[in-house]
Amino acid sequence: MSRQINHKIETAKEKQNRHKAMEAIKVLNTLQDEFKHPVKSMGYFYNLFEEVYCHQKALHDDKIKVGTMCIQIPSEIIYALDAVPIRLCNGFYTDDEIGSDLMPQKSCPLIKATVGHLSSKNMSDKPHFIYSPTTCDQKTKAGITIESFGYEVVDVDFPRTKESEISREYFRRSIREFSADISKKTAKKLTKKKLKQSIEKMGYVQSLYHQLSEFRKSKNVPILGSDMLLVTNAFFFDKIDNWIEAVEQLISELQSRADESITVTGKMSPRIVYTGSPPIFPNYKVPILIEESDAIIVADETCSSNRMFNDRVAVDEWFVNDMLDSLADKYLKACTCPIFTKNDDRIRRILNLVKTFSADGVIYQAFAGCTVYELEQRSVLDAMEKAGIPILYLESDYSPSQQGQLSTRIEAFVESLKMKRRNQK
Ligand code: SF4
Ligand code: SF4
Repeated sequence: MSRQINHKIETAKEKQNRHKAMEAIKVLNTLQDEFKHPVKSMGYFYNLFEEVYCHQKALHDDKIKVGTMCIQIPSEIIYALDAVPIRLCNGFYTDDEIGSDLMPQKSCPLIKATVGHLSSKNMSDKPHFIYSPTTCDQKTKAGITIESFGYEVVDVDFPRTKESEISREYFRRSIREFSADISKKTAKKLTKKKLKQSIEKMGYVQSLYHQLSEFRKSKNVPILGSDMLLVTNAFFFDKIDNWIEAVEQLISELQSRADESITVTGKMSPRIVYTGSPPIFPNYKVPILIEESDAIIVADETCSSNRMFNDRVAVDEWFVNDMLDSLADKYLKACTCPIFTKNDDRIRRILNLVKTFSADGVIYQAFAGCTVYELEQRSVLDAMEKAGIPILYLESDYSPSQQGQLSTRIEAFVESLKMKRRNQK
């Protein structure tokens, strides 16, 4: 059933909300109505996004809300202090346009949208304070602008190399400082018991994500890649226990679909690994175009999805300092973001995803202005070419105007993959 918006005389804030609601609804309606065999349990996620982005529903009024600017802030520590992490990375074109007046034109749309969103103070779950890891230059510099809106933004030192012992030790110290700071701000003590429980809960969350991924390895893929993005993006802000319950239900439905060989794909649908600048709701322009072109995203290598759940924390001793060090190691080592000087891990991961998920090709999206992903495309393209894996590189932004040109390129790529399949038969 399609969702509708009511029109009336409105204030600037209401207008902004209406535009955002329209963006959200367009994507939710597309996902719900335009693909065959919709997954019933996705209803939880469609409603969640509608409640939050169309009706400004706050989910965490009883909690201290900790804004995070990137995945490099360990959620485990925030949960252990009885606070909630709210990831602020934003995908709205409406916010991108507001942010364009506050950030240089050439900034990436994600950061402009994040800044635009925070500048409007038009938020359902407004963060009490924000932690910003010094990852890419744009995130790092955006902190000053965000502070001018009245937010407290705390920088978390993040190294730009990850192989050396120095960077490992550097980030361990940084995480210990972060932990002391947030403990002070929340007026809560980080206890051994709470931190252990929190690490274990996140481990369970990761295991759920891996169960979902397993279904996508099958020939009969039972869920759209765009729906999977919605599930993982919901983790940015949802109540963790609600998210767990909804994903458990989703797994059980996908199991039934797998048993009955119900699939969302066509017979010849090429299987795609998606990588690059993170797709964040409702900026699903490229993923939806891929799946509308009769391909299926079977896996991704992005920080708004796979990278959030990929690697587990390995703890030797369950003492607070040991757990903090293990968290720091996990967040640093496992990160395949191109902000690092060398990033062979990312190439290895993409190659591994292509193999494990029997993908036919890779689609690499870089946001215009996201220099790190733009810069890293050459090495990834070379590596894929060497391995004989077809890859399509796209530059995109949040504007709806690019749709036609992107769709032509995606359709041509998907067609070439289908042709390759036919020739192999
Ligand atoms: S792309 Fe990199 S710096 Fe940007 S949010 Fe993702 S992990 Fe953080
Ligand atoms: S890594 Fe790229 S997409 Fe992420 S904030 Fe930085 S410039 Fe934007």
